[in-house]
Amino acid sequence: MSAISDLRIRCGHCRAVFPCPIAFADLASLEAAIAAGLVASCPSCGQTVVCSLENMMWRNADGSGGGLWA
Ligand SMILES: [Zn+2]
Repeated sequence: MSAISDLRIRCGHCRAVFPCPIAFADLASLEAAIAAGLVASCPSCGQTVVCSLENMMWRNADGSGGGLWA
């Protein structure tokens, strides 16, 4: 599994897209964090965003993408 880079979150409140403050080595690590309740604060509206694969997007080291970009 290739490493994730450029992981971003889309805020469900204001629709802003911002970089995830936490880096993940691979999709399995990201999915584990989501299952554990990964949240991030939107820098645009300040609300807490509950992360899921449906509101995140990322690029893989091999150039492919996932999430909203897939
Ligand atoms: Zn927001």
